[in-house]
Amino acid sequence: MDIRTAGSGGQIVIAGAGYAGLHVALRLAAKRPDVELTLVDRHDYHQALTELPRVAAGTRAADAVRIPLHDVLSEQVHFVRTEIKGFDLADRQLLTEAGPIGWGWLVLALGSRPNDFAIPGLAERALSLYSVGDADRVWAAVTAALTAAAAATDPEQQRRLATVVVGGGGATGVELAGELAEMLPEVAAAHGVASDLPAVLLVEAGPTILAGSSPKLIDKATGILARLDVQVCTGAAIAAATEEGFRLTDGRLVEGGVFVWAGGVKAPDVVVESGLPTGHNGRVKVDQYLRVLDHPEIYVAGDLASVADPRSGRVLPPLAQTALEEGETVARNLEAELKGTPLEAFTFRDKGFVVSVGTRRGVADIAGITTGGRLAHLLKDTIEWEYRQSVRHLRGWDPVTR
Ligand SMILES: Cc1cc2nc3c(=O)[nH]c(=O)nc-3n(C[C@H](O)[C@H](O)[C@H](O)COP(=O)(O)OP(=O)(O)OC[C@H]3O[C@@H](n4cnc5c(N)ncnc54)[C@H](O)[C@@H]3O)c2cc1C
Repeated sequence: MDIRTAGSGGQIVIAGAGYAGLHVALRLAAKRPDVELTLVDRHDYHQALTELPRVAAGTRAADAVRIPLHDVLSEQVHFVRTEIKGFDLADRQLLTEAGPIGWGWLVLALGSRPNDFAIPGLAERALSLYSVGDADRVWAAVTAALTAAAAATDPEQQRRLATVVVGGGGATGVELAGELAEMLPEVAAAHGVASDLPAVLLVEAGPTILAGSSPKLIDKATGILARLDVQVCTGAAIAAATEEGFRLTDGRLVEGGVFVWAGGVKAPDVVVESGLPTGHNGRVKVDQYLRVLDHPEIYVAGDLASVADPRSGRVLPPLAQTALEEGETVARNLEAELKGTPLEAFTFRDKGFVVSVGTRRGVADIAGITTGGRLAHLLKDTIEWEYRQSVRHLRGWDPVTR
């Protein structure tokens, strides 16, 4: 396929093969085999981001969470592996390293990137956890720190090296801290370090971990983390990341051998600088049909879309379940555009909230019921398994039966 003609002439171009973009591509391809679709991403694989804490703690191989796009896309979808560098909104073109790609309709689903909130030194000194590569780097840093701890002779230095500090007590931080706490004793012993030497610290600026969740869920998660010996420091805002460690606003220094920042996300720069209307954290403002305000030919789905939760009035949190639901609506609306039928307004249906805490336990809030323990972990495993099945199943999905 000639990259310059890809997506031209009223065709549909999907930017981003993450949870939202891949879902739009799979749904539309299954329902409209006659329509030309172009999917653009910097990777030729889909990343199961919800499984990254396991990769970062060495409990899952990096390759296991890279799903090759070739295996799940039908031939109808033209996949272009390239970096998107900008947008020519007037001429309706994506500007990419492989050349311009014209769109008739564009689906923007480029996800998020870590937000360091302009904390000095954080971007340079702390690892992030937003790609399989990031997760691999965390795991490599943990094993390198334990190797260094084994070689150190000073007990203080050993203890410092064997300490992992996680910044941000949201779901990602909690999952990473729990997973590491459970794995580190075993990994340490394999590196010749006493299994009781490693420590995991979870540093959170707000008054609680898992902010916005029910008090019961927070209590249960806090209890499990305590049993795993994770040291949770709430009300601990990081002022700067220095060579010595995280310097808190109250002057305290948090030392460690590995620092990971999981404190929040924002829209990628390429979107913030696009000239599209953006709101909180650079997310794109959309109408009820998920079309960009003043650009009805551009739909947005996933983390990038700024969609308010009608119950709270707040923007929906960046979650995979939201990305999938928005992807569903965008796929239906593109079908409606092709048929010339009315568009469907997006309605968020909350399926609940599940967080794994360690390798065997978790917490969940579903339909007003809070659980904590093995059942919640099983739920999380089931959700991930179902998601993988849906990606494969959608390829052969028969629109007549739905
Ligand atoms: C560690 C971690 C754990 C999580 N756990 C959960 C969980 O348990 N449950 C839950 O609901 N949510 C979870 N989330 C959040 C969830 O993963 C996101 O909300 C979801 O991935 C958003 O989907 P998306 O399609 O908007 O973006 P993404 O899935 O991030 O996809 C964006 C795609 O765009 C591509 N891209 C971006 N910029 C460019 C560019 N310039 N050029 C080319 N390609 C580009 C990327 O390669 C990527 O494939 C987690 C996130 C992380 C990081």
